[in-house]
Amino acid sequence: MTSKTKYIFVTGGVTSSLGKGIIAASLAKLLQAQGYRVTIQKLDPYINVDPGTLNPYEHGECYVTEDGAETDLDLGHYERFLNVPTSQANNVTTGRIYQSVIQKERQGKFLGKTVQVVPHITNEIKRRVQILGKSGDYDIVITEIGGTVGDIESLPYIEAVRQLRWDLGEDNGLVIHLTLVPYLSAAGELKTKPTQHSVKTLMESGVQADILVCRTEHKLPKDLRRKLALFCNVTVDSVIQSIDASTIYDVPNLMLKEGLDKIVLKKLALESSEPNIDIWNKFVHRHKNPKSEVRIGLIGKYVELQDSYKSILEAFIHAGAENEVKVNVESVHSEYLNDENAELMLGHLDAVLVAPGFGERGIEGKISAVKYVREQKIPFLGICLGMQMAVIEFARNVLDLKQANSTEMEPETAHPVINLMEEQKTIKDKGGTMRLGAWACQLVPDSKAAKIYQTDAIKERHRHRYEFNSDYKAQIEAGGMKATGFNPKTNLVEIVEVEDHPWFMGVQYHPEYKSTVANPHPLFVAFVKAAFKHKKTK
Ligand code: GLN
Repeated sequence: MTSKTKYIFVTGGVTSSLGKGIIAASLAKLLQAQGYRVTIQKLDPYINVDPGTLNPYEHGECYVTEDGAETDLDLGHYERFLNVPTSQANNVTTGRIYQSVIQKERQGKFLGKTVQVVPHITNEIKRRVQILGKSGDYDIVITEIGGTVGDIESLPYIEAVRQLRWDLGEDNGLVIHLTLVPYLSAAGELKTKPTQHSVKTLMESGVQADILVCRTEHKLPKDLRRKLALFCNVTVDSVIQSIDASTIYDVPNLMLKEGLDKIVLKKLALESSEPNIDIWNKFVHRHKNPKSEVRIGLIGKYVELQDSYKSILEAFIHAGAENEVKVNVESVHSEYLNDENAELMLGHLDAVLVAPGFGERGIEGKISAVKYVREQKIPFLGICLGMQMAVIEFARNVLDLKQANSTEMEPETAHPVINLMEEQKTIKDKGGTMRLGAWACQLVPDSKAAKIYQTDAIKERHRHRYEFNSDYKAQIEAGGMKATGFNPKTNLVEIVEVEDHPWFMGVQYHPEYKSTVANPHPLFVAFVKAAFKHKKTK
């Protein structure tokens, strides 16, 4: 088989959490900066059809693509690094693979045959891997295989990689194995044995790693690289050190220094040149050399988990760099917030963001946070559930509709200012059935939103079932909270602003999903600017 698109597979050994996603994204960045059209795909070996039904305790944030796929948070890193949108095809799970194979079986596509892991499941994996390559849009597809080599669940994926390496031919595919080289402080030594074993495990499945990327806390000396090369069947220049970095945004430059891009291109028989990463480096410089700082509260119920609000935290990094300000995000657990302690918990902050979320837990604390910042005129951004809480707070405390609530929390509420979207009313299934992906939004001229976006037509990504109840729109607007963004087809309210406030915005969509290094999100940029302004007036 001849193939124009080249395939890079990234596997992981020894332990999870080595940062395969960041390595894949960093390599992709370096290749993209040499003129190659690159995309990254993640294969996840769990049986959920997508991570949309998992809670953040299980899986961190669920990232949403333009075309409405609920995906692994690594896709967020891919977009933030590459500034190119991903899609349904960029995240594949075991659940989805089996779902399509079983569907085909029921349709009689394999009539008369026994349906098996090899070849039916592996064929489906191979087909999914090649969808992006066959689209003609990419020169290089990087496929990251979730999990750790040796896991029972990963076996069909590794087998598919083995077959694909063979099908694609010599220069058209390669395997990068990300592994750990631990430092034993008692021995005062870096140890290669775990890597030797994981490379061997990979070989038991017939896959030879072409390049080793070694996560390490200490520099890898030359002799250790030689030893790894000798035991693992790779050349010395294919042993790449990935030393712990203070920020993930340093990793592309670290990989450049190690020559990861060069060795990859050489093995794929592609030309290499000096990557142009000026815009990237300008961002990294600003990120690391802020002129000032602000404190922004993130009010949520998963604040103890680093990954739950990943895209929001990254959007703050982009917006901070743009403003040359360090954004110190202070997590505040909404379950412990109330009207009495709001001053104590939030009084010192320069701005407050109320996070997205589902269900009743912690919502009263979110409402108290909104009340406090609205009254104290502290800059506020509410995202999705955060916007809905802002509407409820306004109805309760400004319009005096004390029973105001969302029907998500209180189905029989007397004042359902937030209620289930019409099209959701007949839906019973939970998987993939929310309002998902990018939708058009028309901005009211001269609104704060229109000024920030500098246009009156935007497209933003969504993930929700409930909406602003238009029956209350006239009353809410008369009270001073204006609807300034609408879905042009359904008239659904997407943005609210409080008039008599320096910076108070609630958005039904998720701006954080679209913030990238090259394009920091305008709403986050303006919000950080407002925080800085507020700090100066204090
Ligand atoms: N639970 C709310 C809804 O479904 C908000 C969802 C969210 O914050 N992503 O509408």
